[in-house]
Amino acid sequence: KLVLGIETSCDDTAAAVVDETGNVLGEAIHSQTEVHLKTGGIIPPVAQQLHRENIQRIVQEALSVSKVSPSELSAIATTIKPGLALSLGVGLSFSLQLVDKFKKPFIPIHHMEAHALTIRLTNKVEFPFLVLLISGGHCLLALVRGVSDFLLLGKSLDIAPGDMLDKVARRLSLIKHPECSTMSGGKAIEHLAKQGNKLHFDFKPPMQRAKNCDFSFTGLQHIIDKTVMQKEKEEGIEKGQILSSAADIAAAVQHTTACHIAKRTHRAILFCKQKALLSQSNAVLVVSGGVASNLYIRKALEIVANATQCTLLCPPPKLCTDNGIMIA
Ligand code: ATP
Ligand code: FE
Repeated sequence: KLVLGIETSCDDTAAAVVDETGNVLGEAIHSQTEVHLKTGGIIPPVAQQLHRENIQRIVQEALSVSKVSPSELSAIATTIKPGLALSLGVGLSFSLQLVDKFKKPFIPIHHMEAHALTIRLTNKVEFPFLVLLISGGHCLLALVRGVSDFLLLGKSLDIAPGDMLDKVARRLSLIKHPECSTMSGGKAIEHLAKQGNKLHFDFKPPMQRAKNCDFSFTGLQHIIDKTVMQKEKEEGIEKGQILSSAADIAAAVQHTTACHIAKRTHRAILFCKQKALLSQSNAVLVVSGGVASNLYIRKALEIVANATQCTLLCPPPKLCTDNGIMIA
């Protein structure tokens, strides 16, 4: 059985063909990141237009590298939510045209559920397991009890960590930094943090006293905005130029973000164990999403996993970000 997966929920036009054993026959992806970096964020009608320009070519490419013709497919799966309505619409209408033309069953896919289940393509993971999804658009902790059985334990009350890192990177004008100009905000922060000293700034992790597993990132973003403004005054530079303390700020924001994410995840693990929702001795913590590619944040989560006798698993970086394989 062969399934075609189509993903257009945000800024990647992606498609893949996967068989019933999880074997990937082929995939294709077109990323809009470079365009959106220039405008300082995603403008939905621009994303929609780019999806329209690429969807046919990407689906065709995924099918041809897989050496599969549409008539050989058993079903067509497509992301239907959550995401940008204009972006989702392009994938959905293209998919429904194929469904109609080739008379194939249609499988509607929840984007976050696909992210949460992706680990099962690369590792043998039994239900239930805990999943932490951290990306530019999402931030959630959930217990995965089955293919369509999820218990949401916590989410961001405002923006996602990737969004916050992107905003901080923009405020620090890292796009003008010779070493970071082609990187996403989060990656630029990770890169620069290696050259900085996190102890030069003391940003407190948010929600330290909150007795739940929710997250918050706007408070941290505002404190950093203020700090950057103050430093610009001190260093006598204009907004838009790179601060000499940019690397220290990057290291401190990465550290505080890692602490916050690790602490909320620790709470979730303790809660699940206490309520016997997760195994005491061999629970699995899966971490995915673009921010999960950050090695410093991953290290913090490894410490949490070790302290709670959990096994930490991350899908390979390529499967952590949006792709057609997870949908298929
Ligand atoms: P969705 O939330 O729907 O998955 P998305 O496009 O934001 O959408 P991803 O492609 O998974 O999701 O992640 C992109 C985000 O990850 C960006 O915000 C980017 O800054 C962040 N990111 C990428 N690499 C790193 C890194 N090394 N460290 C921290 N953040 C990173
Ligand atoms: Fe995603």
